[in-house]
Amino acid sequence: MELKLDLTPEEQAELNRNVFMVTLEQVKAWARSNSLWPLTFGLACCAIEMMGTGSSHYDLDRFGTIFRTSPRQSDVMIVSGTVTKKMAPVLKRLYDQMPEPKWVIAMGSCATAGGPYVKSYAVVKGVDQIVPVDVYIPGCPPNPAALIYGINKLQEKIRYEAKTGKKVMS
Ligand code: SF4
Repeated sequence: MELKLDLTPEEQAELNRNVFMVTLEQVKAWARSNSLWPLTFGLACCAIEMMGTGSSHYDLDRFGTIFRTSPRQSDVMIVSGTVTKKMAPVLKRLYDQMPEPKWVIAMGSCATAGGPYVKSYAVVKGVDQIVPVDVYIPGCPPNPAALIYGINKLQEKIRYEAKTGKKVMS
């Protein structure tokens, strides 16, 4: 958004370089996207990679992303691992306990679509059958860099939706 006043071209150029206007929703989205607090939902091998992402080598904290152990303090659920039908109601209850706005990342083939256990009677064929998913990260398992990329994509999505008012489909 450009601020138009009765100014000389030089003054207008200087103003455009130093002042920018955004909506309150965009400011909130900027703050939210830079302070995502994930509820860890490690269910199988992918969870090891998720834990590695929080280690000092990958330093996930630099994006303002800090793991929480309570759904009431979390706004992102990272589902990393195989979702069994027995675990599905627990996952849904924890999701429901998270305050709005909230997002879900499906990390790995199992959380995305059942993975190697797709033919098992005991496995849910993708966590999106239980909760809405915002970002899917492929791989078996995805490495920490892939998870960081997925989190960055979620940050972009949050900011884009606030700017345009359009919902981005995953
Ligand atoms: S996607 Fe692969 S690594 Fe991840 S939980 Fe499933 S089997 Fe394990």
